[in-house]
Formats: sequence, C-alpha cells, structure tokens
Amino acid sequence: MSETIPQPPTQPRERVSGRDIWSKLSKDQREEIGVAALEVFAGDYAQHTATYGAKTCGDVDPRVVRFTEAAFGAAWGRFVDLIVDEVPQANFVGANGLVKLPSILGRVCLHCGCTANDACEGGCEWVTDTCCSSCSGEITPAKDIAGWPF
Ligand SMILES: [Zn+2]
Ligand SMILES: [Zn+2]
Repeated sequence: MSETIPQPPTQPRERVSGRDIWSKLSKDQREEIGVAALEVFAGDYAQHTATYGAKTCGDVDPRVVRFTEAAFGAAWGRFVDLIVDEVPQANFVGANGLVKLPSILGRVCLHCGCTANDACEGGCEWVTDTCCSSCSGEITPAKDIAGWPF
C-alpha cells in the first residue's frame, strides 16, 4: 500500500499549460511563435533525414549534415529567443520555485525519474502518482490518481 512507500527524494514539479499560455498571447504573438515552431520542425526534420535517413539509404554527406545542423540551430535559437521575449518566464516556474515540466510528459516517479515513455528496465507500473512499482517493491496498478499530474 502507498503508506509503506518512503517519501520521494525529490519534489514534484508543476506542469506548464501551453494552452493557458497560448490563450493569453495576442494574435501577432501567436503567429510569430507558430511560424517559428514550424521552422524548428523543418530544421529538425532536415537534420534527422540527413543523418539517420542517409545511414539507411546510403552515405552520410558531411556537407548536408553541417548545413542541416545549422538550419536546426538557427530555427531553434530564434524560437527560444521569441519565447523569452514574448512570454513571461513566471509561466515556467512553479509555486515551489522549481522549473515546471511540459504537460505532455505525464507522470514521473520521484524516486527513480522514470516516466510513461521511459519505464524502468523490465517494465514498471504506477503504484501512486509519484512512485512506480520498481521503487515501491509492489506490483499493483495505480489506485490513487487524486494528485495527478504529479
Ligand atoms: Zn521508480
Ligand atoms: Zn519505474
């Protein structure tokens, strides 16, 4: 049962609500950020296909790797600068002073740091919202989701 689980060694973190932040932006800010986000994807996609795609289809061309890395770096840098300029940083820090996590992450085990997409070796389940079965010593499904999303 959860009462036998020791206190987590690290604090829970709040989640950033991208949707809430987005709702407070002006039309112009949304347009700038949306355009910049698409260019980040384009840079990532180009870089990914230049390296991993080439490995499966033929040689990696170092010139293509170089300029696609530069493309991603430039797009990412502009995106980050834009967010820093347009979105108050308080949106990204929780009441406990810790930097928030993106809401897409879901649950985190505060004992080992595993997540739904990065389970413990051999697999694990949620015993509580902040503890996985590898850390609790129990193999039981999550019973209490009242504290979600921590
Ligand atoms: Zn764990
Ligand atoms: Zn785990």
